[in-house]
Amino acid sequence: MIDQVPTTIKNELHDLIEWLAAFGKTGHGGVTRLLYDTDWQKAQHALKYKMEEMGFNTRFDDVGNLFGCIRGTENEEKGILTGSHVDTVVDGGKYDGAYGILASMIATARLFHQYGAPRKTIEVVSLCEEEGSRFPLSFWGSGNITGKYHAQDATRLADHSGMSLTDAMHGAGFGIGNYPDAFRNDIACFLEIHIEQGRTLELGKKTWAPVSHIVGQRRYTISLTGESNHAGTTPMNQRRDAVYAAALMVSHVIKMAGEQQNGLVATVGRIEADPNVANVISGKCRFSLDIRHHEVSVLDRFSEETLAFCKETADKAGIQIQINKWMDVPPVKLDQKLMEMNLKLAEDAGIPFRKMVSGAGHDSQVFGTFCPTALMFVPSHLGVSHSPAEYTGLDELTIGVHMLMKMLYHLAYAPEKNNGKCEYE
Ligand SMILES: [Zn+2]
Repeated sequence: MIDQVPTTIKNELHDLIEWLAAFGKTGHGGVTRLLYDTDWQKAQHALKYKMEEMGFNTRFDDVGNLFGCIRGTENEEKGILTGSHVDTVVDGGKYDGAYGILASMIATARLFHQYGAPRKTIEVVSLCEEEGSRFPLSFWGSGNITGKYHAQDATRLADHSGMSLTDAMHGAGFGIGNYPDAFRNDIACFLEIHIEQGRTLELGKKTWAPVSHIVGQRRYTISLTGESNHAGTTPMNQRRDAVYAAALMVSHVIKMAGEQQNGLVATVGRIEADPNVANVISGKCRFSLDIRHHEVSVLDRFSEETLAFCKETADKAGIQIQINKWMDVPPVKLDQKLMEMNLKLAEDAGIPFRKMVSGAGHDSQVFGTFCPTALMFVPSHLGVSHSPAEYTGLDELTIGVHMLMKMLYHLAYAPEKNNGKCEYE
């Protein structure tokens, strides 16, 4: 299959990835493009011109999402949307988000040049924000399109320097009525192609993954209060040691997660002791708990069992416990029909693939509750992402573009009237 991929797509993709990565390039070879900052603005405007060069009609919406449209001949109300996000984390890689936008541009433009206008409208989108790297929110782009967020949500949020989201948006020329409102009710389906950001595909020697679900996430902060005391004069049986209680809880949660064998993952990423001094028994300890799975029932059961263990352990040790659940994002099941079409196309093309669940959040989870949505992964070398070392081989990236072309052809050019047969090869 790799040998069959046209060299011209490879070259075009390579050049566009390097070109876009230059906007916000860091000293370490990474990319920093934060929502509405200067490099973000340059990238979105440069993408607009690039889309126009490639034959798209372009426009922004009022929050800065950029669209490149190839109008369909059937003038249907709803069109196909494909793309990903233009923002990055601080010193991130050049593929996360960017690849999904560029792959969509190349796939759509090539279909247009080869077959003319599609029957159904195809729009490429460069979403303004997904990562949550500048302001304490994420999915600002897809959230505004789907009605999850509204412009007034911007007033109460500020970045590290104290600048409000509203001021940053206005500074970039958005949110002042220059462009149409972001909310859309004319999207038939959303397609997103993305790097995996994990190692499942590479280890399994697969090139392509249609994603069935995006996991749900629950996050807790667990605060323990015992008694702070002298490390030398307090006998072991008279202690109310918050760090020891936390250690029992953490090791139990991680061990239990390891025994699940159903894809559930649990992480304690932050732990703070007080007073955090070598010769004092800690009176207080606080730790985070992050639990993810793609089924609510599994999340419910695991959370209940582990939190019950924590309460019991605290009671036995004479320690007060406070459990604060501050995030509860439900899992999202992506569209079954698109998934089946995707699997069939990969099988017919002889591409090594596997169905996957996404453990990371993506714009597709926002669209997934709004319209039929498909998310697809290509491999990430060593599973590294959100880092300048993020890398996917050009052959694999190009196969992704090829698969996206097949999907778009099926959806926009060769629908049911051809008995579902794909003419594009
Ligand atoms: Zn991403």
